[in-house]
Amino acid sequence: LRVEADHPYTVHIGAGAFGLFANEYRPLLDAADRIVVIADEQVAELHLQYLLDFLKEWDVRVLTVPSGEAAKSVETFMACHSFLLSENCSRNSLLMAFGGGATGDVAGFVASTFMRGIPFIQLPTTILAHDSAVGGKTAINHELGKNMIGTFYQPKAVLYDSKLLETLPPGEVRSGMAEVIKHAFISNATWLEELLAIRDFKDMAQEELNQHLEKGIAVKAAIVEEDEFEGGVRKYLNFGHTLAHALEGHLGYGNLTHGEAVVLGMSYALLLSEHEKLDDYIRWAHENGYPLHIVKDIRFDALLPYMKKDKKSSQGILNFVLLKQTGMPFVEKVEEQRARSAYEKLILQIE
Ligand code: NAD
Ligand code: ZN
Repeated sequence: LRVEADHPYTVHIGAGAFGLFANEYRPLLDAADRIVVIADEQVAELHLQYLLDFLKEWDVRVLTVPSGEAAKSVETFMACHSFLLSENCSRNSLLMAFGGGATGDVAGFVASTFMRGIPFIQLPTTILAHDSAVGGKTAINHELGKNMIGTFYQPKAVLYDSKLLETLPPGEVRSGMAEVIKHAFISNATWLEELLAIRDFKDMAQEELNQHLEKGIAVKAAIVEEDEFEGGVRKYLNFGHTLAHALEGHLGYGNLTHGEAVVLGMSYALLLSEHEKLDDYIRWAHENGYPLHIVKDIRFDALLPYMKKDKKSSQGILNFVLLKQTGMPFVEKVEEQRARSAYEKLILQIE
């Protein structure tokens, strides 16, 4: 899969993708005076040896960073720079990110800032990373807001070895599949039907999952190509995210995975859209273990201030990405009263 960004690159998906180090990417690795892997600590414990077996021919230095979101801090960012400096890295060094979206975000930010930018390869290990590995956004968090510090920076390649996904805990599978179904909602009704037919993610064969990841990446890539710096269609990727961000803000990050929040946000956006698939979708979400019930204990007024802060909203008017139908997203202004009654309806619908 080719991503035609400002600096084009390829996403390779499939068991054994790391075999490409010794093939297509040999020149890139050979040209590097140092190769550094920044690895999520938990992922390193499970899979570092597997990765290093593919990198035997090269002298690779590894820095592990805290698992998940905790890595997206100024401290980890500085620790990565310290490591690169202590390993005498230069502008010709190559950085690899080994982990989920969090590791990719911080390592990408490090790659984009170390000596004003060094080559970078993403090795995603989560389903959600099909989303984060495309689009070139890097970030760490500020205590006043998530992803507040970052850059746009494209990797040289993304090697996505789906074998590594087998160890993902169920909550992380749910989180990633949320963005997959989001990509279906905004692009393709037939694909959406296939996804809605999944009653238990554990039943998905690896090949089937690979295909969903490929389709998801293709949708994200197409949108990002059209709108690399977020003026127009890239907004559609925020389908389900206005309420999701409010839920995450209200409950505190970490009490709900991002995808779980997005699944709730999409149910709300579908209701506002009067979309015909709402019932099927809610059934799908229940069957696959998404915690829809949590909205019952959250009042609309607790979420409203967060939704008003959303990037898409202005002067108190709420803007939502809605669907005319599957594959036809648009942005709509929604009055507070309409947003409130839809939320109340959602709570009833979920019971
Ligand atoms: P994550 O990177 O936070 O990882 C979640 C957990 O899964 C961690 O505990 C990690 O150790 C574990 N894990 C990862 N791979 C594993 C594996 N193969 N087996 C077992 N455990 C594994 O989660 P994520 O959902 O991939 O990423 C979320 C982050 O991505 C957020 O910080 C979000 O802001 C960011 N994101 C960025 C973009 C972007 O465009 N840059 C897009 C979407 C999300
Ligand atoms: Zn998201």
